[in-house]
Amino acid sequence: ADDGLLGPAVIRELAAELDLRPTKTLGQNFLHDANTIRRIVRTAELRADDVVLEVGPGLGSLTLGLLPAADRVVAVEIDQRLADLLPRTVAQRRPDLADRLDVVTADALRLTELPGPPATALVANLPYNVAVPVLLHLLDLLPTLDRALILVQAEVAERLAAPPGGGAYGVPSVKAAWYGEVRRAGNVGRRVFWPEPNVDSGLVSLVRRPPPPGDRAATFAVVDAAFGMRRKSLRAALARWAGSPAAAEVRLRAAGIDPGARGEQLSVTDFARLAATDPVTP
Ligand code: SAM
Repeated sequence: ADDGLLGPAVIRELAAELDLRPTKTLGQNFLHDANTIRRIVRTAELRADDVVLEVGPGLGSLTLGLLPAADRVVAVEIDQRLADLLPRTVAQRRPDLADRLDVVTADALRLTELPGPPATALVANLPYNVAVPVLLHLLDLLPTLDRALILVQAEVAERLAAPPGGGAYGVPSVKAAWYGEVRRAGNVGRRVFWPEPNVDSGLVSLVRRPPPPGDRAATFAVVDAAFGMRRKSLRAALARWAGSPAAAEVRLRAAGIDPGARGEQLSVTDFARLAATDPVTP
């Protein structure tokens, strides 16, 4: 195609060139459908001055779609062979855009800084095993990221975007909500990937907004505790966190929360308020 996007035949050629056997551990499922790429890029609503961070560019399917829509793309890939191939693929298919790309070989979970101008948007087809930790780590590390559009497995998409009160609401929902407004942004079937995964995928968009008042680490600690024992009342689930069931009850009441409620009923703001209550000394 004129736009240089990768179809099934090219994906197979590139993989053969590398003698690549995609691994499950690294979540290597490559997009081979140009229409899906166009839809993802459209949904990302990039501005011409955006610096896009792409985690896991793989063979470059999404990278080639992102380059025309942004000022720069910084691609962080853990697999050295893929990282080495990417600039060549881009130079061959979109020589006009090759100087917009930076490739970093690294584990996104261990990034402590990102070279180049500050990234403004995360757009990625994330490795499924580590999608949520990667998202949270990058939102925390890079305050200039003002939005994210990620492709994850459908069940994770549902959890990330779940509102309080339902069965899908849990640790990922609350932690993502700390950083921004989270929404589902479309479904992507399994057939557009090579190799084909055994689950469907979903797009999730996050638009950053100021976090609730409070401390992030303290809030995340009480969130982990509250959902560690999902079916218990908060009084019981938070006993260890607070020191005792009685101490948990005091702190819950101080935050204006019913001690008989369950974690899935609390919003991120409730959790932040609870974390900020004074510890109770026995
Ligand atoms: N973006 C490509 C696409 O859409 O076709 C590939 C997406 S594939 C689902 C995930 C990619 O992330 C793979 O290329 C894999 O090697 C890479 N990856 C896996 N774990 C990673 C990590 N911790 N940090 C950076 N990249 C990672």
